Amino acid sequence: MSHHTAVGTYHRHHEHDEPIDVKSKKIVLAGNPNVGKSVFFNYLSGLYVDVSNYPGTTIDITEGRFGQHRVYDIPGIYGVSSFNDEERVARDIILDADVILNIVDAVHLERDLFLTLQLIDMGFPVIVALNFMDEVKKEGVTIDVEKLSELLGVAVIPTSAVKKQGLDQIAAQIEHARQGRQDEKLHGQLHELLKMVGSQPEALMIREGDAYVAQRHGVQPEDKREETYIQRRLRANNVIQQVVRHEDRSTFREWLGKISIHPLSGIPIVIGVL
Ligand code: GDP
Repeated sequence: MSHHTAVGTYHRHHEHDEPIDVKSKKIVLAGNPNVGKSVFFNYLSGLYVDVSNYPGTTIDITEGRFGQHRVYDIPGIYGVSSFNDEERVARDIILDADVILNIVDAVHLERDLFLTLQLIDMGFPVIVALNFMDEVKKEGVTIDVEKLSELLGVAVIPTSAVKKQGLDQIAAQIEHARQGRQDEKLHGQLHELLKMVGSQPEALMIREGDAYVAQRHGVQPEDKREETYIQRRLRANNVIQQVVRHEDRSTFREWLGKISIHPLSGIPIVIGVL
């Protein structure tokens, strides 16, 4: 439980602080680096923002308020793990979350889905902001948002944060975040650990070899990181195959090539071109 205390200590009280409503949730903004997290944070948190170092580190944690909820911006990460200080801080704040707003860069959806699936496997209520939709359109890529939402089992909201598009829907949906579709096999494998540590996100961390979380619970970390990561990567690729379509730039040329060879359409086209 020590991490709960740790997370609590960096909150400084202000004169405008009201008593915390029992329904107040910790909303954590999680995403890969440069996905637009700070734009979302600023939109949600409004005026009262508190930046402080996470205890024992030089890493900035930004905390604000969204209605009666607390909202946290954390360092950008590619996955929840513990290889460096930034990741450890992000991990501890994520482990303490009630709701995760996962911001993904739709242009790099394949890369970003790893974290999304991991957060879902941890069992958190998640809402996905599919950001950079303006860039996706420019690149001639289409994403089947409905299908993506169905496969993940959580709400997926397309956004272009710099243009303020979709942010109002995020604000409206965030309280209705729900648990997604977890990897069933993995979920079964967590059973024993879960009985010992009593927390699904922490059980998953231990399964993925997090020595620090394991130590906190007095258990040995399992060495299943590679296996779990490969499985998750495969699942991300599978999702991508089902939802992402690249507009084939050669399509029009191919079509023109085909019909100009065709005996009936070929001659009029050649005449037309001449
Ligand atoms: P963070 O590192 O995740 O906090 O990312 P930032 O909020 O600093 O955003 C990184 C860069 O991406 C900035 O230059 C933003 O203006 C830009 N950006 C954020 N969202 C969008 C978007 O939806 N579309 C485009 N084109 N740029 C965006």
